[in-house]
Amino acid sequence: MSAHIQWIDRLHRGEVLSAGEFAELIDRRTPELSEYLFSLARRVSRARFGNQIFTRGLIEISSFCKNNCRYCGIRRGNPNAQRYRLSEEEILCCCDMGERLGYKTFVLQGGEDAFFTDGRLIPLIQEIKRRHPDCALTLSLGERSRESYQALFDAGADRYLLRHEAADPQLYRALHPPEMEWENRVRCLYDLKEIGYQVGAGFMVGAPGQTSRHLARDLCFLAELKPQMVGIGPFVPHHDTEYRDRPAGSVELTLFLLGLIRLMLPDVLLPATTALGTVCPDGRERGVLAGANVVMPNLSPAEVRKKYSLYDNKLSTGAEDAGHWSELQARMQAIGYELTSQRGDAPGYGR
Ligand code: SAH
Repeated sequence: MSAHIQWIDRLHRGEVLSAGEFAELIDRRTPELSEYLFSLARRVSRARFGNQIFTRGLIEISSFCKNNCRYCGIRRGNPNAQRYRLSEEEILCCCDMGERLGYKTFVLQGGEDAFFTDGRLIPLIQEIKRRHPDCALTLSLGERSRESYQALFDAGADRYLLRHEAADPQLYRALHPPEMEWENRVRCLYDLKEIGYQVGAGFMVGAPGQTSRHLARDLCFLAELKPQMVGIGPFVPHHDTEYRDRPAGSVELTLFLLGLIRLMLPDVLLPATTALGTVCPDGRERGVLAGANVVMPNLSPAEVRKKYSLYDNKLSTGAEDAGHWSELQARMQAIGYELTSQRGDAPGYGR
């Protein structure tokens, strides 16, 4: 136990642990060790961000996807998935609404939908930035060419979320069809970083076949990439996938990993994700108390929310509804935090 406390102290001092040490910490964690980790993680996050929790409005622009990720409800091979695509007008409307509600970051996320070519995205991005010059625009549209990432950045996109999903190539291959290459995923992340985006990587916790060794590699990968944002949440089974009977990832392990990531990357923008809120009613609060400092409520039009079904029972109402700012605010205040409308760029970024 005391050795493990010392490892956590080393992380807190800015040292990187080895994969073996991370794996042992994960395997041998206890409630006491977790509490110790969380108290340091909160301290680090408080020192940088005070009690402020950044807010992002999430707009799910398309459920069409050319990929076939084995865990995902909107994968190409799911004939039962309900497909939709928002029009440019609808997306602009969501952003206008979002700014009125107090959001200063819009996240456009979707399946890899061939409709959204650079030719269609560039004018859309330019128009969003023209209407909302003070707001940040985040894209989460999967793997694209370096040229495309550059063109979207030049059009005004500020940030890009692309979870690496698994730093271990073998696990990555087990979770994805053969045409999806781990090397390309990693290439995308480094391209995005070089271009100048604030970049978000991340992974699911408790994905089928994932062990503590795999998670340790994920942590080492993050230490190397040094992304500005990290999205992690529990795996949640979807009834139309081959993993329908697999157990969901553990809340408690997700929290432990959030704490480790906060110590390892003190400035990182770290959301308490929708998946965490989905598997546990007070998941977002517990995420914040483990070191998270971002929430991303849903700003999509109500009619399409059910159709963006990545996993079963995905939340999009209540405190997860971007329209219900005060409900989420009350929840954050109850634990001593405060939602903020600031853009919340990574230190050194923002234009
Ligand atoms: N097409 C985009 C957006 C993907 S959806 C991209 O490729 O980046 C956003 C995230 O949802 C994924 O990165 C994945 O980690 C997560 N996700 C997908 N299916 C899930 C499931 N069954 N349980 C939990 N998270 C899931």
